[in-house]
Amino acid sequence: MSAPPPDWLEAGLPHIWLPYTQMKTSMPPVAIERTYGSRMVLADGRELVDGIASWWTACHGYNHSHIQNAIQQQLKVMPHIMFGGAVHEPALRLARRLCASLPSDLERVFFSDSGSVAVEVALKMATQYWLNRGVRTRTKFLGFSGGYHGDTIAAMSVCDPNEGMHSLYSGLLPQNHIVDLPTNEERIKAFELVLSRHADELAGIIVEPLVQGAGGMLFHDAAVLTMLRAAADKYDLLLIFDEIFTGFGRTGSMFAYEQSGIEPDIIVLSKALTGGTMGLAATIARKRVFNAFWSEDAKAALMHGPSYMANALACAAANASLDLFEREPRLGQVERIEKTLELSLAPCRNLRGVTDVRVRGAIGVVELEGIGDLNALKRRFVDAGVWVRPFGRIIYLTPAFTIDETDLAKLTGAIVSILSSE
Ligand SMILES: *Cc1c(COP(=O)(O)O)cnc(C)c1O
Repeated sequence: MSAPPPDWLEAGLPHIWLPYTQMKTSMPPVAIERTYGSRMVLADGRELVDGIASWWTACHGYNHSHIQNAIQQQLKVMPHIMFGGAVHEPALRLARRLCASLPSDLERVFFSDSGSVAVEVALKMATQYWLNRGVRTRTKFLGFSGGYHGDTIAAMSVCDPNEGMHSLYSGLLPQNHIVDLPTNEERIKAFELVLSRHADELAGIIVEPLVQGAGGMLFHDAAVLTMLRAAADKYDLLLIFDEIFTGFGRTGSMFAYEQSGIEPDIIVLSKALTGGTMGLAATIARKRVFNAFWSEDAKAALMHGPSYMANALACAAANASLDLFEREPRLGQVERIEKTLELSLAPCRNLRGVTDVRVRGAIGVVELEGIGDLNALKRRFVDAGVWVRPFGRIIYLTPAFTIDETDLAKLTGAIVSILSSE
């Protein structure tokens, strides 16, 4: 069944620099020719069931015809127009719909082209919020261990400093305060202490609500978010929720913070925003944040503006993705996936080397004492016909919400059988 590698692979690979990869020693990348549903078709003819929905973006599965049609229609009319001084219907409609799906007065949308950039925008917004109000000292942020907010410089500076990815660049990064999430008495004390000492230099608090994704799929309770809201109110800090991973149904509600009953001052969305088709992100602020920029003073304007801001094709894709959330039973599908993951990953609990099995929404995690040979493990998954990307100490699944029972069983079955034979 295996075909020889295609010409484009051999010719192009020497010119490509892959993300987070030691290219000398890692397994060569798999060559993908096309996608459909929850499947990736390799150039050699094999098919893999995708367990992570292209880094958590492809929530409706691949090649959904409704999104494809929307992009094609928009392509005929206008692929892109600069957003400086010019606006268009797909962006305005998307902004209106996003705000309508969020509570209260989260009502101003700043579009950008990737999650990291949208986090940068949130940090700039929060800092300038204070500057515009004449406060010059509030330029730092409070972030959390296990947190991940992107790979650009300021975004890296609010990530967990020890969690692998960014410690190399620490000399380059702005210094922020990173503490443990206030999940027990001791941590609450430490959290309170940092706030009481440093609140007057803080512009805000940034957190991934309910699930810290790239930091290891770590879960916390909604009560933690209530505590963060209370602290933000007490010390007059802006509370930023990075829902780039958790947004659009992944944790069981449209947005994770809905499960907490409290609201952020700024929310950041990306990843599944376009249903896994195009780069787009949104930083959405409450009225009081925007009001600090509304002024006779030109210097009070937010100084940011990506070339491809509010790209019309991407906005059309995002609108189509929102249509699908309205028309199709996505949250019901997440609930079904949650039940299936709980049942079918449960056998891992009894396996040697497994320290935890946890599920929330369409996220299933098997945590291990450690992973000896990550490359070998990745290769075993590919050989088993599934696309699963373990990292750190975890093997996890974040499938498309539309995945069928058979493909989901193939994913969980591969994890159970590969861990059983380790
Ligand atoms: C992926 C991610 C980012 C970064 O988004 P990019 O589009 O990769 O820049 C930021 N925050 C969270 C929570 C993410 O999961």
